[in-house]
Amino acid sequence: MQNKLLGVIKEDIRNITKSKLTDLLKKENIKAYQISQIYDWLWVKGVSDFSEMSNISKELREWLNSKFIINSTILKEVYTSIDTTIKVAFQLHDKRLVEGVLIPSGERVTACISSQTGCGLNCAFCATAKITDFRNLTAGEIFDQFVLLNKLSVERYGYKLTNIVMMGMGEPLLNLENLKRAIVEFTSPKGINFSPRRITVSTVGISKFIKELADAGLNVDLAISLHSAIEQKRKTIIPYSKSDSLNRLSEAIKYFYEKTHNRPTIEYLLLKNFNDSITDAEELAKFCRSFPCKVNLIEYNSTDDSRFSKTTHETLKDFKDFLHSKNMVVNLRTSRGTDINAACGQLVNKNLSKKAN
Ligand code: SAH
Repeated sequence: MQNKLLGVIKEDIRNITKSKLTDLLKKENIKAYQISQIYDWLWVKGVSDFSEMSNISKELREWLNSKFIINSTILKEVYTSIDTTIKVAFQLHDKRLVEGVLIPSGERVTACISSQTGCGLNCAFCATAKITDFRNLTAGEIFDQFVLLNKLSVERYGYKLTNIVMMGMGEPLLNLENLKRAIVEFTSPKGINFSPRRITVSTVGISKFIKELADAGLNVDLAISLHSAIEQKRKTIIPYSKSDSLNRLSEAIKYFYEKTHNRPTIEYLLLKNFNDSITDAEELAKFCRSFPCKVNLIEYNSTDDSRFSKTTHETLKDFKDFLHSKNMVVNLRTSRGTDINAACGQLVNKNLSKKAN
């Protein structure tokens, strides 16, 4: 991202890779310890202005300011649910809005963060699909969501974040380079030192990039939004799956497991009378035979779309019991924060876009 100020084009310093920035600063005779201090302000403390870098000389701060910009993110709105879930709207430097969610559970606080400012996948059941004018988030913007949510979590719940799920707006694997850079910063032992095993990347199932994520050696967890193990059915709700078969997906998941030894999660959104029959459960069980995995059943959260509704308790129980009878590991993800539209699939910046202009 570049910013034009009085004819000078300044680059966002966080869009420059660590090795390139180091070379650049070294050329200016900036000492190694100062470079690491600058890096710490950018990628650990997450400052929004060079003037906040208090242990850096004024002269150097001014030089940085003359060359670069920090495109920072602010918390624009905070909504608290009756179940204590919090949804926030972040405002990016270009005034675009993106949503994030804090989900507390005992001493555990999960941050659900976004990878894009909308989504191009157009999944039939998801409200984010409605935002078609969108862009990828930079690594800095993915990182900022963490910093802001971590601060909010301490303020509101008294605990730091314990888990990160890339289940907010967008498809993380279609923004893989920036995602990888952000994860490297989250998990850097010299920096935030967040355990990669507490980071889950959720994807619609892009086979090629699942393999790339495995090859990146980041050691994060993977979740796949399967929602149907019947090819024809899946294609009707997930347009992306028309170009990436279930066979290829299965191969990619297997590859991920073999490479990382991290057991992936298969996410299955239960839609009434659509994918909740015992035949659907049988197909799901067959699909899951190719690799070790756990299944997360997800309750449907309503969007403004009347095509889908929530599976009944009885059907859900039968579906779950069937999977248990096949010795599968099954969890039920209950909806949190539905009263503030914070639940999965509900992130769409409702009523907010006008305010940001
Ligand atoms: N693009 C990624 C991550 C964003 S969606 C992915 O597809 O996984 C995060 C999760 O919410 C996905 O499992 C998605 O399928 C699910 N989801 C979308 N709409 C939903 C809805 N209306 N109710 C419940 N879950 C939904």
